[in-house]
Amino acid sequence: MKTDATPEQEKAVIKRIEEMGFKSHVIHGQDRDVIGAIGHEKKKLDLMALQTHAGVEAVIPISKPYKLAGRELHPKPTAVKVGSLKIGPGTFAVMAGPCSVESEAQIVKTAQSVKAAGAQILRGGAYKPRTSPYDFQGLAEEGLRLLEIAKAETGLPLVTEVMSQRDVERVERSADILQVGARNVQNFALLKELGQAKKPVLLKRGMSTTIKEWLMSAEYILSEGNRDVILCERGIRTFETATRNTLDLSAVPVLREQTHLPVIIDPSHGTGVRDYVPPMAMAAAAVGADGLMVEVHPTPETALSDGAQSLTLEMFSAMMAKLKPLIELVGRSL
Ligand code: PEP
Ligand code: MN
Repeated sequence: MKTDATPEQEKAVIKRIEEMGFKSHVIHGQDRDVIGAIGHEKKKLDLMALQTHAGVEAVIPISKPYKLAGRELHPKPTAVKVGSLKIGPGTFAVMAGPCSVESEAQIVKTAQSVKAAGAQILRGGAYKPRTSPYDFQGLAEEGLRLLEIAKAETGLPLVTEVMSQRDVERVERSADILQVGARNVQNFALLKELGQAKKPVLLKRGMSTTIKEWLMSAEYILSEGNRDVILCERGIRTFETATRNTLDLSAVPVLREQTHLPVIIDPSHGTGVRDYVPPMAMAAAAVGADGLMVEVHPTPETALSDGAQSLTLEMFSAMMAKLKPLIELVGRSL
């Protein structure tokens, strides 16, 4: 829109866009508003007629397939709000906790300890995507209840995975951030459902998804109306077997160029080995990530899932102490 376009002109443009069968998406900028028209490529020529509409400065086609996740329509980086926290530029969000919620004592003890060490968000899986159906599948609703107890004890907001479309409503009632796991990154029915949710979504990269495919998955959520998506790189599958996955830290600068969405790093699934987690967490801060997701367990040797990659409470505190000056050095605050 022109810098002096009136609200009436803006409304009239939105009406025309919607009449043509597009969805509108308004971005309020400092000196002008941009109205995104999202819809089928085939009909994009119709939009050109808006060129002469009152208040319109220019009609510009977006070249990337991810219209809402891309930077063309939305050049400034997005900060996703979680209660009083902001995940995005200038901050460094640390989400920590066990792979799975196992008991009240386990989750509350972990929450208190990671909070004291500087974590701002508690993680813990209640619905677990396990390779074997005979492995621990998570405590489900009981796990959500225990997470709520840990939140009440510490004030930490919660991030937890939702595996199925069927569970979105229930998980949304307990969680502050809804996690989509690597295995569900292209579960489009789930993504569409999460696009209707009122809570931010943490979208993990699949073990074999390209950055472009991953951004198209983010687009599924954004195009349904949920604008709060956080991307989480958690390692991809390569020929290397010394680590569980290969943590693709170069995804961070690529994503910075391609998207305005915040990007966090999960060095736990990214390496699969406890001792490799702190150095990769440092690297994540250095490369410009917006935060971390780290698995921490009071007794990793008894953990019901991912014990080998879980930090002890002491290791997590030591890692945070080393990270703090680096986070400041890169111009961010915890
Ligand atoms: C997890 O966060 O515990 C998890 C299952 O992660 P991912 O989906 O990245 O494997
Ligand atoms: Mn895990």
